[in-house]
Amino acid sequence: MVQFKPYFSGEAEPPSRRLASAQKCFRTTDIDKVGNERSLTFFEMLGSFSIGDYFKRGAIELAWEFVTECLDLPEDRIWASIYHDDEDAFSLWQEIALPASKIVRLGKEDNFWGPAGETGPCGPCSEIFYDRGAEVGCGRESCLPGCDCARFLEIWNLVFMEYGQDSEGKLVPLPQQNIDTGMGLERTAAAMQDVGSVYETDLFTPIVGRAGELVRRSYGDDETVDRSLRIIAEHGRAITFLVADGVLPSNEGRGYVLRRILRRAVRHGKLLGREDPFLKEIAQVVMDVMGEQYPEVRVRRDFILEVLAQEERAFQYTLTIGSTIVEDLIAGLSSEGTKQIPGRQVFRLYDTYGFPVELTREMAAEKGLVLDEEGFAQAMFEQRERARHAQAFGLAKEGEFYRSLELPETGFLGYETLEATTEVINLARDGQVVDEVTEHDRVAVVLRQTAFYAEAGGQVGDTGTLSNPAGEIAVSDTQSPLPGLTLHYGTVTRGSVRVGDVVVAKVDEARRLDIARNHTATHLLHKALREVLGDHAQQSGSEVAPERLRFDFTHLQALTTDELDAVERLVNAKIRDDLPVVTQVTDYEAAVASGAFAIFGERYGDEVRIVSTGDYTRELCGGTHLRATGQIGFFHVLSEGSIGRGLRRIEAVTGRGAETYVRQQLHLLGRVASQLGGTIADVESNLSALISDLESQRKEALESQRSLARAEVSRVLEEVREVNGVSFVAAEVEATTMETLREMTDWLRDQLGSAVIVLGAVVSGRPGFVAAVTPDLVDKGLKADQLIKEVAAVVGGGGGGRPTLAQAGGKDPERIAEALSLVADLVGRR
Ligand code: ATP
Ligand code: MG
Repeated sequence: MVQFKPYFSGEAEPPSRRLASAQKCFRTTDIDKVGNERSLTFFEMLGSFSIGDYFKRGAIELAWEFVTECLDLPEDRIWASIYHDDEDAFSLWQEIALPASKIVRLGKEDNFWGPAGETGPCGPCSEIFYDRGAEVGCGRESCLPGCDCARFLEIWNLVFMEYGQDSEGKLVPLPQQNIDTGMGLERTAAAMQDVGSVYETDLFTPIVGRAGELVRRSYGDDETVDRSLRIIAEHGRAITFLVADGVLPSNEGRGYVLRRILRRAVRHGKLLGREDPFLKEIAQVVMDVMGEQYPEVRVRRDFILEVLAQEERAFQYTLTIGSTIVEDLIAGLSSEGTKQIPGRQVFRLYDTYGFPVELTREMAAEKGLVLDEEGFAQAMFEQRERARHAQAFGLAKEGEFYRSLELPETGFLGYETLEATTEVINLARDGQVVDEVTEHDRVAVVLRQTAFYAEAGGQVGDTGTLSNPAGEIAVSDTQSPLPGLTLHYGTVTRGSVRVGDVVVAKVDEARRLDIARNHTATHLLHKALREVLGDHAQQSGSEVAPERLRFDFTHLQALTTDELDAVERLVNAKIRDDLPVVTQVTDYEAAVASGAFAIFGERYGDEVRIVSTGDYTRELCGGTHLRATGQIGFFHVLSEGSIGRGLRRIEAVTGRGAETYVRQQLHLLGRVASQLGGTIADVESNLSALISDLESQRKEALESQRSLARAEVSRVLEEVREVNGVSFVAAEVEATTMETLREMTDWLRDQLGSAVIVLGAVVSGRPGFVAAVTPDLVDKGLKADQLIKEVAAVVGGGGGGRPTLAQAGGKDPERIAEALSLVADLVGRR
């Protein structure tokens, strides 16, 4: 009735005082009930309207006539509800059609139609119900129209629109009394065809039937299966129409609703064992059944099928990623003996990958695990809090502040020009509106119009200057805290600026061009990735700055060098093709119809801008671009990496940035080359020569160390002494590493068979000791770890190890001999 509002309020003249309509209707209010016998998200609504013509009596008379004579529904099955104190309606229904016992009084919730909390026409209403019989009802004494059970089916709602609600919520009579009625086609068909639910009417049987074929189950055998088939049919029908009407899957607003119901349909297919994509098949029957009445689904057939297929593939992808993560998780937890998946992990799956919680729960249950539901709820709660917090303290707070100032929208000239002469209409300093700002003040400036681009769609805000002879502000950032309002943040660098001043607002041109290069290149990159990797490689975020661009997208594995090369080559080829960059402003539907690529998660107004680069890319985009791709100059990928499972990030440079980067790399290479004593061409051979040189030197050094060590060992073998029948060695040797020292100890032990060995050496300027005790002596109470502690204590150090082998360090290399001299005593003392 939205389009009829001005007629009801008397603001506009209707084409006729009596009107009738048939229209598509999509509501999310009943989304969780879908699957029951009567609640749909998408349905057809028939309406009749009287604009100041007939009122209650006429409406009830006509409704009764239509229901009983035109539709031929049996009179004894009809009931009505009225607004509880609408005595007029009560007596009219009695007079015209029904006994008092079949007129039910209901409250405001059900029977007062009005704009919740808003202004607009409203009034009491009266609903018409079809009684499907006590046998399908709940059987309770209190079961009457309005009951939640399946018995009474509301088919038609008559609204007696006689009031207007003002901004304080008061009801004031409208200049004329109106009628607005809505009748659900599917429910009415169910009543007329006398079937158990809307799904058994001729509107739905072909769709439900096809769904059954696709999952190889038939309708009517099993309640759970039936529910899934109904959901697939209903959601399949709804998404076909949503896409036909220009809604595209996204993470926000209506796009998110579409995504949600689409995913729900896919999931129910999966529950019934369907692994392959199937939504296209459902959409196809929907088009067959409804295409005659709604030609848009036929006209846009290919587009709809493609959007659905793409989104279904993307969701399959999400499911695949999610499933692997869940499996890993479950395996990990099971090996630790944990039976519960932490709420945080569940939340991450849901939040980062869009993996449905029900699915996580289901997969966990199969493996005998449960979810930490409380932890999950807590994580959800915290996220909402974070969002609220961010809103309270971020740009949104600024948005509130500026909303209350009611400033005019800032005109944006930045697509055509980089400089504008304009007027300062608001100045703020430290969150306070001021008339004048002076040197060194940090300020936020609102202009009547501007060439400065406010950060949006990943593109950073412009910088530049606002100046006139009396003062200048250096703008360091531009943001839009409110749709239509541009805020220039900066510092006064000269003189002063007052509200009302005329200033020249000049964008830093070189920087803006750098940004444009990166932005246009981002579009090329997006397309090139899809070409090289496949359609699943979809943008999940981007940041376009002057010095580089960052592009996040969905893909499971790291890109191979070949893939990355292919992407780079493709983008550079399109740069050399010097494709013209053309922008076109149109309405959203036309844009989508023309095949423009809408980025998931972006919000678009009714008017959208399409940016295309030749025939290569076509995207909805509000950013600032080049005139032709040739201006990008050169595109070079700096890095490619993972930012989470299934999400990759590419960082790249273009134009000046790429030039600087390449030059720096070449200079670096040049310096390396000359250090290696040759040119860049010789770098590799010179470097491998150097490496093999070093390698053989290292080997030689190692060899000589070993032979030195062997010589030392033979020397030490001559110093074996005995105390109390125990052989022992305590000697200072030459060894450059602790490893050599240990090795020498090993050799000695092998030679001696039964002995206590303590070696000391100066290793890297500090004392180092290794002690070994053969097992037979350990049994007699000699322990390497104890020995070494006392030895090392002399040099101010400590150490440890096992009874058979221990090592220690210290501080004072001068006292190694003294420390070793303790050994004889220590062994003897045992
Ligand atoms: P209900 O409470 O039964 O869901 P409603 O009071 O929200 O319906 P109205 O806003 O009065 O519905 O809409 C007018 C008519 O549109 C209803 O009488 C019904 O026939 C039909 N209708 C409303 N919602 C749905 C729905 N979810 N599925 C199918 N038909 C519906
Ligand atoms: Mg109703």
